[in-house]
Amino acid sequence: MPARRRQWLAIGAAAVALLIMAVFIYRSHGGRQVEGPVLPAPAVPDLAGFVPAIYDLDVNLDPVSGTVTGSSQVEYTNNQAVPLPELYLHLYPNAAVFSQDVRRPGRLEVTAVSVEGQDVLFTVEETLLKVTLESALQSQEQINLTLSWELTVPDYPGRLGENDGIISLGNWYPILAVYDAAGWHLDPYYDWGDPFYSEVGRYRVRLTLPPSYQAVASGNLQARRQLPPQKKELVWETSLVRDFAVAVSSEYESLEQKVGPTLVRSVFLRGEQAGGRQALKSGCEALKFFNDKFGLYPYHQLTLAATGFDQGGMEYPNIVFLARQFYGQADAEILDYLVVHETAHQWWYGVVGNNQVTEAWLDEGLTEFSTVLFFEKVRGRGQEEAASLAGLYQAYRQTNGDGKILRSLNEFPSELAYNALVYGKGCLLFLQLREELGEELMLTLLQEYYRRFAYRNATSEDFIRTAEEISGQNLGSFFQDWLL
Ligand SMILES: [Zn+2]
Repeated sequence: MPARRRQWLAIGAAAVALLIMAVFIYRSHGGRQVEGPVLPAPAVPDLAGFVPAIYDLDVNLDPVSGTVTGSSQVEYTNNQAVPLPELYLHLYPNAAVFSQDVRRPGRLEVTAVSVEGQDVLFTVEETLLKVTLESALQSQEQINLTLSWELTVPDYPGRLGENDGIISLGNWYPILAVYDAAGWHLDPYYDWGDPFYSEVGRYRVRLTLPPSYQAVASGNLQARRQLPPQKKELVWETSLVRDFAVAVSSEYESLEQKVGPTLVRSVFLRGEQAGGRQALKSGCEALKFFNDKFGLYPYHQLTLAATGFDQGGMEYPNIVFLARQFYGQADAEILDYLVVHETAHQWWYGVVGNNQVTEAWLDEGLTEFSTVLFFEKVRGRGQEEAASLAGLYQAYRQTNGDGKILRSLNEFPSELAYNALVYGKGCLLFLQLREELGEELMLTLLQEYYRRFAYRNATSEDFIRTAEEISGQNLGSFFQDWLL
């Protein structure tokens, strides 16, 4: 997610780009093409020592009532050395923010839980579901969990919510909490930042909905069928991803273009083609640039979806949500920045994950650095972007004094503090690290970090250790000064 932080200058340069892009792209109006072509089944890399969870979601969306009803089966393997007497899943739609000042409060109600077909006891406390197992799940043991649930989508301009005729399904289904060396991570939904931490899993999602609606999602579309009397069925499968998001509207149109083996798709509301073209152009350029600088994006598709999310953009695996309020010509520069930022997250959050609650600098700081790098090399105005981020941090520091970057979301005194320190100061940290190492070594470091922690969750220590190994320098005091 980007910091909602800057006043942007409007530009009218999009028109030139449109003419150029028109040669490479074709448009499709409504109908089935919005969902894109059926893609090959995704290849699933083998992760030594870690068996990813498999989520199988079977859900029906009623867009009129704003409800999603269905079930999920989760095959979970205990990858830890210790037995687990209980399992936890997050129910993020139950966060208070989705119920305040709305006509239709958000809610994720779990109605039944079974383990290997046997009903089990479970408790729900706000955004947390606890499943008590009859016998502890031993190390390396596998379990099949089935959950029945009903989601009410709030009329709310958020990651999850319906707004502007678009239903955004972000963080919308029961997702496993992470158990790592520190135990279970059971953080609630915080009002700022991206309060998420997840491991990669494989998803198969079957969604039924009225045929007049189009849906785009994480993963590869595997099937699209009409079901009698008035239903459409869509099935997606993913490679290893750490979440699954969907965007739905009856007013979507699409544009697409290939970048190497990846199909990039821009999905936008009818009548907002200027923004749709801008998003596609920015997304293709960013994907190509980051492929080149950090290592290849390992998925078949990337979807850039206009949504009613009002805070800029939000990253999900293989799909990003973009605020359609910026799809006008006057906001082309803002949309450009948003798309590049969210595309960079496919590397830093998507493939290389981290705990976004406790170490947000790893994904947001590095993503802002990557975005500045893109603007420096591709747009020729990296300095202005860096100055804007520095200005955000300096302004905060003048009023509030300096602050630690490395702390948990709930330990930032305000959203402004979080934005200034994680995005502003976080980006400056990486720019300064580039000064210390030189650009070539900095890129070698990021390529190695990407390779080493692909599909894993990296920690601050992992990043620092990689930086020290690649550079041969002791960087302990550098990171201590910046982070603490
Ligand atoms: Zn971000």
